[in-house]
Amino acid sequence: MSILVYIENVEGALKKSTFESLSYAKAVADLTGETATALSIGRVSQDELNKVGQYGIEKVIEVDNNDLEKFVNQAYASVIADVAKSMGATTVILSNSFSGKGLAPRVAAKLGAALADGAIALPTISGVTWQIQKTVFSNKAIATEELHEQKKVIALTPNSFEAKEAAVAVTIEKYEPQLAPNDLSTVIKEIVRATDKVSLPEASIVVSAGRGLKGPENWAMIEELADVLGAATACSKPVSDAGWRPHAEHVGQTGLAVSPNLYIAIGISGAIQHLAGVSASKTIVVINKDPEAPFFKVADYGIVGDAFEIVPQLIEAFKAYKNN
Ligand SMILES: Cc1cc2nc3c(=O)[nH]c(=O)nc-3n(C[C@H](O)[C@H](O)[C@H](O)COP(=O)(O)OP(=O)(O)OC[C@H]3O[C@@H](n4cnc5c(N)ncnc54)[C@H](O)[C@@H]3O)c2cc1C
Repeated sequence: MSILVYIENVEGALKKSTFESLSYAKAVADLTGETATALSIGRVSQDELNKVGQYGIEKVIEVDNNDLEKFVNQAYASVIADVAKSMGATTVILSNSFSGKGLAPRVAAKLGAALADGAIALPTISGVTWQIQKTVFSNKAIATEELHEQKKVIALTPNSFEAKEAAVAVTIEKYEPQLAPNDLSTVIKEIVRATDKVSLPEASIVVSAGRGLKGPENWAMIEELADVLGAATACSKPVSDAGWRPHAEHVGQTGLAVSPNLYIAIGISGAIQHLAGVSASKTIVVINKDPEAPFFKVADYGIVGDAFEIVPQLIEAFKAYKNN
């Protein structure tokens, strides 16, 4: 019995959430006394794969097949399940990322495994029964799920488990998958990046702004602040509805749910529907000129004041800090 952790890459570079999944897999392996092995699918350099060792995982199974160069849900799920079967893995761990959300249930179905998606903590293990916490109702509550199957698939929420370094030497082993025609019924011909900015679902810092910004012409300072911090930009729903910002940036109940380490909300009231998508953020900083704005109730830090005065000062302060 062992643990298999699927490691995601973007254009050949391992993702930050992958390092969290690796650390989580290592921690689960320490709890169960098993070994954890990483699985990489796609074209990833040996240098990147060697990074797995920094998080305490000694072996990587590498699947580098022309048909799998680009992410295809069905095919990747088949490969993960096949590798898990071939090595007798009873636990599969992956990130609850965009692609992980599609993969986890497919892998669980193929393995006949219990699924805990959106896990936020290590399991409490009692023999074959594992209890795992996840957030529910737009992060308003935490549910504890009990998994009774011998086989388990856990999809870990990004930013919920810290990547911990524990360097070991790595061996990389190639694996040639047997793909069925069905696995490749979807063909990805081209992936065009909409932007070269930090991706919002993956970002560990998000700079978000609302109707308090008055109009799209005022977003340059939001982008500059995000740039200085290496952050992604986001917005409230009325802002994207008005066409000031793209819909892909709208966070909340009807938009993206994000859980960055730092969420900076500028000129956003903090309506319940907005909070539904951002309240899982580790630290929330609110900038609003109305001291009664509801957002202050969930803020870790708040600045009462005019965004047009505060944001430029913050940009200068961060630039000065970075230059020293
Ligand atoms: C079914 C449903 C689903 C919804 N889903 C979502 C969702 O997913 N995401 C979402 O965001 N909303 C959602 N909404 C809308 C939500 O209810 C709020 O209307 C919206 O979040 C308000 O956006 P806002 O805070 O940007 O604007 P406003 O409510 O207009 O607030 C603007 C804020 O900016 C402050 N401000 C103004 N000028 C300045 C300044 N110069 N400096 C600093 N602060 C300033 C004001 O004090 C105010 O607090 C949903 C609504 C419904 C009914």
